[in-house]
Amino acid sequence: MIKYKISSENPQSHFLNIEMVIDNIHTDSIELQLPTWRPGRYELQNFAKNIQRFEVFSSPSHQEKGLGRQPLLGEVSFYKLTKDRWLIHTSGLQELTVRFTYFANVQNAGSSFVDESVMYVNFVNCLPYVEGRMDEPCKVEMILPSDYKIACGMAHENFVFSPKNYHQLVDSPMLASPYLQCKTYQVDGVDFYVWFLGNYIPNWEKLLSDFQKFSEKQVKVMGDFPEKNYHFINWILTTSFYHGVEHRNSTMIVLGPDSEGDGLYTDLLGVSSHELYHAWNICKIRPVEMMPYDFTKENYFPTGFVAEGVTTYYGDLFLVQSGVFTQEQYLQELETVLKRHFEQDGKAFQSLVESSFDLWLDGYVQAIPHRRVSIYQKGAVVAVILDLMIRLRFGHQKSLETVMQILWERFGKTGVGYSLEDYQRVCEEVYGRSLSSYFKDCINGNIPLGSMVNELLDAFGLQIQWNEEGKLHLEILDAENENLKLWLNL
Ligand SMILES: [Zn+2]
Repeated sequence: MIKYKISSENPQSHFLNIEMVIDNIHTDSIELQLPTWRPGRYELQNFAKNIQRFEVFSSPSHQEKGLGRQPLLGEVSFYKLTKDRWLIHTSGLQELTVRFTYFANVQNAGSSFVDESVMYVNFVNCLPYVEGRMDEPCKVEMILPSDYKIACGMAHENFVFSPKNYHQLVDSPMLASPYLQCKTYQVDGVDFYVWFLGNYIPNWEKLLSDFQKFSEKQVKVMGDFPEKNYHFINWILTTSFYHGVEHRNSTMIVLGPDSEGDGLYTDLLGVSSHELYHAWNICKIRPVEMMPYDFTKENYFPTGFVAEGVTTYYGDLFLVQSGVFTQEQYLQELETVLKRHFEQDGKAFQSLVESSFDLWLDGYVQAIPHRRVSIYQKGAVVAVILDLMIRLRFGHQKSLETVMQILWERFGKTGVGYSLEDYQRVCEEVYGRSLSSYFKDCINGNIPLGSMVNELLDAFGLQIQWNEEGKLHLEILDAENENLKLWLNL
């Protein structure tokens, strides 16, 4: 079994000390790979640049048996094959120890950080795998002061994790500190944990009631929850911050500033509901191109707009449908999504499919003018369009929910993954007729969508209005509109 040990000799320096013991070696050479990207952010990350010194030794157990001396630098020869892949000549050794130091000094939802009171590790940043052995169980021992608590989707025994394989390990970030707070609630026999680190005292009663409501709604809509437990790991900073990353049975959320109060709580609700829906949509209902994840290079997929757009739409919609948000609050969030799309990239050249593919190129950075569309914002706008089309055609008896339920049954629970063609087929099956013009205009094309959205919103008592500067406003024509009430579950 491959065993990792993570400690920090000098937390003030922000360095982690990492040891990896590889046993059961029967080949002349092995290759180690540090992931070149992480699930949840589809761009190359180059984590290996944080490795300060990297050394390979014959294992202590081997020396005790025969050599009787301390390991020496360079005892086992190795070469780099790529920026984050190492070839190690095993020289007949059956066990090797790799040691390196990793600079952990970034506080966001996908990095690692250590100081005197926190050890935060995204294992995907800093633990390499042995080629060909990703499916084996492994062990990770955290060397921490005894008063530390651990927030993580993986269970631990005395600070030792035993993931069933490398994939589980790198999909389970860990936040450890003596100052963690935690409360739990249950939905359908699933335990939900809400963790906080930082100078923020939540109104626990309200928070647990709100979280219970949107979690119950999501589980009810999707039929069942994919995991046995789920952890919201919240780290509240003193500086302005908004970042969440989805994982199988946890989400890592970093928000700030801690002084913001109500605004921070609204952000927390929005991002938490969004990330929870990812437990289905992308963690399980996953693009076939990413089955399984290839951590050595880009994993291109054309359906980023389903993963992020549908999730952006439902993250907020579940909040109003479950009674956490009022109609006014929801329509404000919807207006924000519409503004971001129409005001910022309504004139962009690319289609959603092109921008999904190019996520790896410029999905998370400022793109050049009028090139990229946001798979989040335009993805949410086209999700609204499809949902309202289905709702109007079937008098709210069917909706985009029906599409997502079928995707969960056929491509999520089965673990087979879906393609763009599968998505279109399921949408058409639910709609009962061809959606070729919707896919041509909204998904594969780049025509302006304003009049299409307004035509649909009209039946819901809503209209988008533009002023002379091109600024958008969502006008509520009829707050008591029956379709609006049915849509928002009010
Ligand atoms: Zn997301």
